[in-house]
Amino acid sequence: MSHKTALFNPEELLAMQGVDDLDRSRPSPNPFWNRARLELTWSLPKMAGMTEHSNIELQPMREATRDELLSFHDPSYVETLELFSNMGTAFASRFGLDSDECPVFPGVQRYASLPVGSVIDAVMGVAEGRFKNAMSYMGGFHHAMESKAAGFCYYNDTVIAIKKYRERYPEKRVLYLDTDVHHGDGTQMAFYDDPNVLTVSTHEMSMGFFPGTGRPEEIGVGEGKGYSVNIPLPPLTDDFVFWNAFEDVIVPIWLSYKPDFVFWEVGGDAHQSDPLADMMLTYDTYHRMSLTVRQLVQLGTGKLVVVGGGGYDPIATAKIWAIVLSDLADIPLPPTIPAEWIQLAGKFGLNMRRGGWTDRPTRLNDEHYPKVQRAVDDVVSKLRELVFPTFGLA
Ligand SMILES: [Zn+2]
Repeated sequence: MSHKTALFNPEELLAMQGVDDLDRSRPSPNPFWNRARLELTWSLPKMAGMTEHSNIELQPMREATRDELLSFHDPSYVETLELFSNMGTAFASRFGLDSDECPVFPGVQRYASLPVGSVIDAVMGVAEGRFKNAMSYMGGFHHAMESKAAGFCYYNDTVIAIKKYRERYPEKRVLYLDTDVHHGDGTQMAFYDDPNVLTVSTHEMSMGFFPGTGRPEEIGVGEGKGYSVNIPLPPLTDDFVFWNAFEDVIVPIWLSYKPDFVFWEVGGDAHQSDPLADMMLTYDTYHRMSLTVRQLVQLGTGKLVVVGGGGYDPIATAKIWAIVLSDLADIPLPPTIPAEWIQLAGKFGLNMRRGGWTDRPTRLNDEHYPKVQRAVDDVVSKLRELVFPTFGLA
């Protein structure tokens, strides 16, 4: 079996012009589809020399075929996106397209299907032992529904890749772990009645926070009852509270479920600096999470694919994904952030306050901690009651 980590190279996607055209035609940049985010996240491991390391096998991204897309998505939705991809903007609200979050721009069909083909290839490559594990920065578009775009997501790459994996290995079970700050609603929905795909999502839940789903009571239906696990967290959840929930809920469920294959959607938007969310995680928690994921995978079969997901502070997201990649591929991070990359960030108008791989937790007003702790304790006890019995846990 290969000892290499496959890393999907988004340069072909970065070379496309649609996102720049979009930036020019809108008053404010799309938080996801913008040049600074796409370029800075990828340039960091590259400028840090990680992509050249012998533990990495760079892979080209690949557009999903129409048949692959249709394994989950509605044909009229796929046709609509193709059509608008060729024609440019058009009114398509029925499919959630041409909204602020899911704009239509020239080439959007290709942008949206490149992650799908790549994540399928990542899964198959890892399943067949060609790679030890794999990571695609572009992937984890967890809000995409069968016939609706939402929250920067057009096609749901992980749903399609999991379907393909299960088709090839019907006796195998999948764990989909989603620590993006937003609930993995599209992915949960796709496997809501399926006990062979366990979805576990940690996410912020607060008034008006997108997408609004992901309560502990959403546990699946029919045979899938108990196999959707939701850990909603209040704003200002910090490292300590988050980590307790991770250890109290995710670790025991994972150990008991014994998945054959694991997907981890590691959105950088639960970091304390994210402009679209209110959680307070530091880089240390991401690092701890990736080491734990690695360790848990090693206890099982060693099959892991990591997808990038969200994250709207390009600097934090770039660092988080580089930290995860370094753990995944056993490549040490350089002692300091490359100066070249700091310059590139400056070119995009982003100036770094601190230049390292760690950050200090933001000190909150003391009155917040007990409230946050209580809210998360409530969630954990609900989950003990609602889903722990499914896994034979007391
Ligand atoms: Zn997100």
